[in-house]
Amino acid sequence: MKYVSTRGGVEPVSFRDAVMFGQANDGGLYMPDHIPIVRDHLESWRKLNFSELATEIASIYAPDICRERMSKLFNDAFSTFDSREVTPLVKVGDLYVLELFHGPTLAFKDIALQVLGRLFELVLEEQDSKLNILGATSGDTGSAAIAGVEGSSRIRIFILFPDGRTSALQELQMTSIQSQNVHCIGVEGSFDDCQQIMKSIFGDVEFKSRYHLGAVNSINWARVMVQIVYYFYASLKFDRPVTFSVPTGNFGNILSGILAQRMGAPIDRFVLGTNENDILFKFFKSGQYQLGKVRATISPSMDIQVASNLERYLYLLMDSDGERVNRFMDGFMNSGFVEVGGGNFADPTIISRRVNTEQSLKTIRETWKESRYIVDPHTAVGLAAAKSISGNAQTVCLATAHPAKFPDAVAQATGGSPPTHPTLLALDKTKARKVVLTANEQSVREYLLEVITGC
Ligand SMILES: *Cc1c(COP(=O)(O)O)cnc(C)c1O
Repeated sequence: MKYVSTRGGVEPVSFRDAVMFGQANDGGLYMPDHIPIVRDHLESWRKLNFSELATEIASIYAPDICRERMSKLFNDAFSTFDSREVTPLVKVGDLYVLELFHGPTLAFKDIALQVLGRLFELVLEEQDSKLNILGATSGDTGSAAIAGVEGSSRIRIFILFPDGRTSALQELQMTSIQSQNVHCIGVEGSFDDCQQIMKSIFGDVEFKSRYHLGAVNSINWARVMVQIVYYFYASLKFDRPVTFSVPTGNFGNILSGILAQRMGAPIDRFVLGTNENDILFKFFKSGQYQLGKVRATISPSMDIQVASNLERYLYLLMDSDGERVNRFMDGFMNSGFVEVGGGNFADPTIISRRVNTEQSLKTIRETWKESRYIVDPHTAVGLAAAKSISGNAQTVCLATAHPAKFPDAVAQATGGSPPTHPTLLALDKTKARKVVLTANEQSVREYLLEVITGC
């Protein structure tokens, strides 16, 4: 198995290189050079636990890393979860909920990032080198990225966030981590400022390579690969194909499901749920991909207008024609509007729904009243979307965060007291560490240099 770029402009690379490079040099994303069909394995896979299943899937996608090491890595990564099942499935009314929030920061991104941090470490150790990760977060991804690498002796992580503009809880999940390799930077500006600073620092290729700078964004192939595991794990618990309902922002989570389906997982269809930031809802309705303005909602991790992982879906849709993908993405970059299918685009396996704030709150309230089960505002989007469709297949809704991460919205919906979780109650305010910098590239650069070079 080799990895090619969605834009067709680079030579195929190994799994290891795809993971370490993150993004391809032609601006595209890495994709496997073929989709392996695994139908013959399904019966034996039903008996495996989560880590064993992950090892089987990785042995196909990561043939250049030995099986024993991958197995050990998965066991280690998933031992940080507070459920033996890693992603337990629970029945809620007529639906099933797949809980993806049992990792250290209580959100689904832990599943992939606990693995990615360890993969980086494994490769760095072989190469006897080091890595300085630089990331920007509007709140949620930062803590999962930090938790994936904290304590590493080969990796430092620098996370930029808009100071004072994330929730107090989100900030504390990052800043209360004590490991010396973790550096939280509050920027006196917006999330856009953080991203802009990060982009211009990465744009300085000299600086980037001299100081071993890397990223942990949602486009890393390893994240997509790891997420494939829970689609198999959950669908193999049923004796008929299931429908998955997925609350969506960057299209990363659902893309893994689509790949699992193409590999032969018993999946009937997908329900794609967006909040008011509905660029993907509209795309799957009309084939039109149009940039809009980001609106702040109660499901902030889905407040996204450009869904970077959609490019991988387009690559599949366009029969691996990198040049076509390239033209599409160029068109989007230049004008903020592109289209596929000339008004006739439809993907029968993806049903899209837009769920507004009022509907989300109502869904949280009703689910609590009817089933005594509390969902977070992101999960509520998927749940509301699932309830709006009819069909014979069992539906599995992906729960992407623990409700205690979003206590205010949940309390508003249920009228009860805010949900809590021991992990969040244990966060120690007195231990918080961060630096606050002005919103310009120069001050961030100087800080990085000070930490990296020690002077
Ligand atoms: C990131 C995130 C999402 C969106 O996932 P994508 O892969 O970007 O579609 C949904 N819910 C929560 C809680 C998240 O953190």
